[in-house]
Amino acid sequence: MSQSLLDKVAIITGGSSGIGRSTAKRFLKEGAKVGLIDVDGEALQALKEDIDHHDRLHFRTADVSDAAGLKQAIDGLVEGFGHLDIAFINAGVNGHVAPIEDLTEQDWHHTLETNFKGTFLTMKYVVPHLKTNGGSVVITSSVNGNREFGNIGMSLYSASKAAQMAFGKMAALELSNYNIRVNMICPGFVKTNIMDNTDFEHQRLKKVDIPVNYPEGAQPLKHDGAEPKEVSNLVYFLASDLSSHITGTEVYIDGGSTLL
Ligand code: NAD
Repeated sequence: MSQSLLDKVAIITGGSSGIGRSTAKRFLKEGAKVGLIDVDGEALQALKEDIDHHDRLHFRTADVSDAAGLKQAIDGLVEGFGHLDIAFINAGVNGHVAPIEDLTEQDWHHTLETNFKGTFLTMKYVVPHLKTNGGSVVITSSVNGNREFGNIGMSLYSASKAAQMAFGKMAALELSNYNIRVNMICPGFVKTNIMDNTDFEHQRLKKVDIPVNYPEGAQPLKHDGAEPKEVSNLVYFLASDLSSHITGTEVYIDGGSTLL
């Protein structure tokens, strides 16, 4: 085992499931100490039983859109570990998938506050810790953040993912003096709970006239979606010193969907 993250400390939001959970396992395997933050406390508890090296795993239940709770969780984890090197800003929701006229102000709050405000707040609270020694921040955006992906009904989600991308690029510029790198990953379809919990079929059949090519046929590779661990390989690369000269960039991991 390479143990290339030995003595590194990482915080992961949305860490109890899907891409975050898979990345936690990868970071732990590479020798890191990992602090997980998730709004789902039960899933965090259950995770400990399913994970190796859990002596190096701490977790806190917090909502990334709640400033006070999130700050307490981040500061508490960093205090416990002693320092911070890596932040994986990953918590997110698809939100309500529906035609624009059916979306509500509440839908706006839920999607934008989880995905974008959560990214801003997490960045705000990890930066003071990362400034000590420099570090790497990886933000989970989406192919939806930069192009229409055939997901009619995902206007709020796409806007939140585009906001993450613009924010991350400005952060990369601003934080470069502190040797803090910031990069965005843009997954296509990944097989996680977020997809199971979203009612695309309802939209396709009953609400949206324009054919939606999702999930079938949208990705030249792996039409049925990527495995979370394929995404964590990329997160690991961007989080580690292997990518020491890469900042402010967006990396697509979408089975080639952006070619279509
Ligand atoms: P997932 O549902 O398995 O994981 C998301 C995690 O975020 C869950 O553990 C959930 O409890 C947590 N979370 C949700 N709201 C939160 C909040 N307010 N505070 C703290 N935690 C919260 O789904 P995933 O696919 O692993 O999603 C991870 C990221 O990947 C998201 O940002 C998502 O938008 C993005 N993404 C996913 C796909 C895909 O196809 N699965 C594609 C592109 C981007």
